[in-house]
Amino acid sequence: MHTVTLIKGDGVGPEISAAVLTVLAAAGVKIKWEEAAAGQEALEKYGTPLPPATLESIRRNRVALKGPLTTPVGSGFRSVNVALRRELDLYVNLRPAKTFPGVNSPFRDIDLVVVRENTEDLYAGVEHMVGADAAESIKIITRGASERIVRFAFEYALRHHRRKVTAVHKANILKLSDGLFLESARRVAAAYPSIEFEDRIVDNMAMQLVQKPQLYDVLVMPNLYGDILSDLCAGLVGGLGLAPGANIGDGMALFEPVHGSAPKYSGQNKVNPGAMIMSAVLMLHHLGEADAARRVEAALADQIREGKRLTYDLGGSAGTMEMAEAVAARI
Ligand code: NAD
Repeated sequence: MHTVTLIKGDGVGPEISAAVLTVLAAAGVKIKWEEAAAGQEALEKYGTPLPPATLESIRRNRVALKGPLTTPVGSGFRSVNVALRRELDLYVNLRPAKTFPGVNSPFRDIDLVVVRENTEDLYAGVEHMVGADAAESIKIITRGASERIVRFAFEYALRHHRRKVTAVHKANILKLSDGLFLESARRVAAAYPSIEFEDRIVDNMAMQLVQKPQLYDVLVMPNLYGDILSDLCAGLVGGLGLAPGANIGDGMALFEPVHGSAPKYSGQNKVNPGAMIMSAVLMLHHLGEADAARRVEAALADQIREGKRLTYDLGGSAGTMEMAEAVAARI
């Protein structure tokens, strides 16, 4: 029996969480869910968007599954997602992007993994006004964080039989910060001679990913580029509705879809539960439940291939729960 912290999330979070519980129950994995609050709901109930009890629950169970959380733009509380990653030192953000046969996408056979550094860069949140009419945000890159994220990318490549790691940067302009990231990547790469290594400037990388994504395999990059390019990769394979993510630290992991709380669809039983289901698949692998992970992924893939009982973004008219129930029935 595994005990997993469950944060249902804001907006469409509760709907896709209910959907994933239905699918996992069908897979027969023994999981005791420990529900914990965060985001808007926690703010209303407990006066803070990230209650200490939620952090304690994740620290105790060491595994969490999380729906999306709303972050107010401009004003209001800082991102709970960023706070969770920082508090728990979940320094890796892993975002696989793989084509499902049957999804309307310009490409086939894409199998990319974005490894995004999760703790520093412009997300360190060091910002201030300079007088009334200028603002300054500080980009922080350290050797330690750069080396450990690149090491993770190579270890991941070894474990998953991947052939190449590409480091993405803007070291031609940001000579010190991205220069340090690139230097760290080159140093770590030298210890993994069996895996090909190359680097790309981020703007060129964006174009290459759109034109010839099949050339790439594991991509490793600082936080901001990873945030943007992983959404681009999700778009290449059919949109945010199928893009899963994992935040990983030493001995702790939190799984969540790449997409946000999609507030305009909240409560409508409309959005695709696929990204949350695939996040749970990553979680099952992490828990050592590889067989259940494969069965869930295969059921989702079959459902998509057959083209029936799918949500709007996949060209269907089914609701969130109807699609989840169809996947569950296949398992
Ligand atoms: P979003 O991902 O919520 O929505 C963007 C659009 O993508 C939606 O309008 C919808 O058309 C589509 N979409 C998203 N999820 C979908 C799904 N499962 N199925 C089908 N279509 C889907 O992004 P946003 O509107 O920029 O952000 C809304 C809120 O979510 C913000 O407060 C933002 O800060 C937050 N957010 C949270 C996370 C997280 O919790 N990890 C990630 C991104 C954004």
